[in-house]
Amino acid sequence: MPNSPKSQPFNALFCDVVQPQILDIHPYVPGKPVSELQRELGLTYISKLASNENPLGASPAVSEAINRELTQIARYPDGGAFMLKETLASALQVDSAQLAIGNGSNELLELVARVFAGQGDEIIYSQYGFAVYAISAQMVGAKGVEVPAVDWGHDLTAMLAAITENTKLIYLANPNNPTGTLFNRKQWEAFMHQVPDRVVVVLDEAYFEYAHAQHSGATYPDGLMYLEQYPNLVISRTFSKAYGLASLRIGYLIGCREIVQYINQVRAPFNVNHYAQVAAVAAINDQEFIEKSVLLNQQGMRQMTLGLEALAVSFIPSSGNFICLHLGDKALEVNAKLLAEGVIVRPLANYGLCEFLRVSIGTQVENQHFLDALKQVMQVILNEESSHHVK
Ligand SMILES: *Cc1c(COP(=O)(O)O)cnc(C)c1O
Repeated sequence: MPNSPKSQPFNALFCDVVQPQILDIHPYVPGKPVSELQRELGLTYISKLASNENPLGASPAVSEAINRELTQIARYPDGGAFMLKETLASALQVDSAQLAIGNGSNELLELVARVFAGQGDEIIYSQYGFAVYAISAQMVGAKGVEVPAVDWGHDLTAMLAAITENTKLIYLANPNNPTGTLFNRKQWEAFMHQVPDRVVVVLDEAYFEYAHAQHSGATYPDGLMYLEQYPNLVISRTFSKAYGLASLRIGYLIGCREIVQYINQVRAPFNVNHYAQVAAVAAINDQEFIEKSVLLNQQGMRQMTLGLEALAVSFIPSSGNFICLHLGDKALEVNAKLLAEGVIVRPLANYGLCEFLRVSIGTQVENQHFLDALKQVMQVILNEESSHHVK
């Protein structure tokens, strides 16, 4: 692709008229697509462990549901997502008026910022917090307040202390991406107890299914249990991770009716396509697939951590379907060499984690591909170094 748009420079004609906050936004950095690496290196066997996708794909019920609906392609979707909300409401035991459906939970995270914050307002999130929080703050012209992490995770006490009269919103991810860290129920309850009623807390539970299966209620608080008590709490979850629907772009938010109504006032009328809606319904109705996915992740996490320990590579213990490896000043070199071996992982320099790589848990075969490639790559780097020293 010699003429990819990326390679074309342009004369900036509009930098004086563009909204100033837009100029400074560093766009979200996605994982490298398999097709791109295939084009670049002509590799046939590639393991993509870069975007925390479900290595099993989606439930077979999902493709059946989509196939059944293919004749509807010319129709606008149900803008109110009636069937999906009914299905979710009964699965979660909430009122369907407490649900907003988004084009990925990403859209909902942005819409909450649009609803509650603008120029002069502050939005709090953690250092190493999910990149979308900072982008959302910038997009609405609010000031992003990044609170230093402790042990790579949220410092809820420091986040409380960062609240000012201008604070409108706090984003939390539990577990966090990219670090996989968790805050426990006691920390969470103490935090919510002290957040002022007028400050909205967005609890991002993108990895809920994985963390919930792995931990007891004392270790992992389920945000849903706190909705009644705290009208200023909204929870976001997604179909992109354990449910395996990342490509369809669908996620949901659970909150009080009032906040959900504001979200619905600003979202695009047909933000979620019909196929995403029917797929999500089919996916919710196949919980066996979720159990299978969660089990595979637990086995894969064990395979990965044992493999990493054997290679003496340190990592941040994770409650998600991914893990952050500490590779020191070799992280970028390891990443480049892994790519050449057909393994796509995620460098984290844009998070200020230059010495780390994030690896998603894949199938047993993919995990082994990664571990074998890592072993080989580290050996090559060691050899290069020692031959350097000899000279
Ligand atoms: C993946 C992810 C999301 C967003 O996923 P969508 O595909 O937009 O639903 C949100 N938050 C975190 C922490 C994530 O890792």
